[in-house]
Amino acid sequence: MFPDVDRVLIHRDEIARRVDELAARIVTDLRAETAGEEEPRIVLVPILTGSIVFLADLIRRLPLKFRIDVVAVSSYPGKSVESKGVKIRSELPTNLRGAHVLVVDDILDSGQTLQIVRDLIREQRPASLRLCVALEKQMPEEERRITADYVGFSIPNLFVVGYGLDFNGFYRNHPDVVTLKRDAMQ
Ligand code: 5GP
Ligand code: MG
Repeated sequence: MFPDVDRVLIHRDEIARRVDELAARIVTDLRAETAGEEEPRIVLVPILTGSIVFLADLIRRLPLKFRIDVVAVSSYPGKSVESKGVKIRSELPTNLRGAHVLVVDDILDSGQTLQIVRDLIREQRPASLRLCVALEKQMPEEERRITADYVGFSIPNLFVVGYGLDFNGFYRNHPDVVTLKRDAMQ
């Protein structure tokens, strides 16, 4: 069904187990953080489009009361393998002042995307702000401009697709995190 796939890096079963663990930690942390607040406002801010599969898995494991307020971001020029810049394509959620915000993204690479989104949200003075990513590319600590509070898997510096991640808009529906054959990326 996916002849372009080279190698399965992270299998769907492993992902499912890890999402269970992350969700449990997030619930514990948010409960602790909001204890004593009468009507805590929790808002998840998923970054479209890559986070959709992870988001669907994650939210169904969070037995909390929260809103979801998406933000669309694209790395341009659009279809490339390397992200060369970041463009916010939708309004950012407003009214995050005093809210407990969890930003959800597919992968943390250079950190440009999350840094921009985080800084814009911070300006609204949320009560707390955390970042959650399904994947993180391994890199030397000094090169990392931002760290996530919750990381599913740390992966080598390879271009991956599946589990929401695309190449040229395709392969988001692959249930595993995979690499592509070289000729699929021409
Ligand atoms: P950053 O701004 O951290 O460099 O890049 C983050 C964005 O670039 C991700 O949200 C994702 O859209 C894209 N990206 C980075 N690495 C990969 C990768 O290995 N595969 C895919 N499909 N997208 C990636
Ligand atoms: Mg993305």
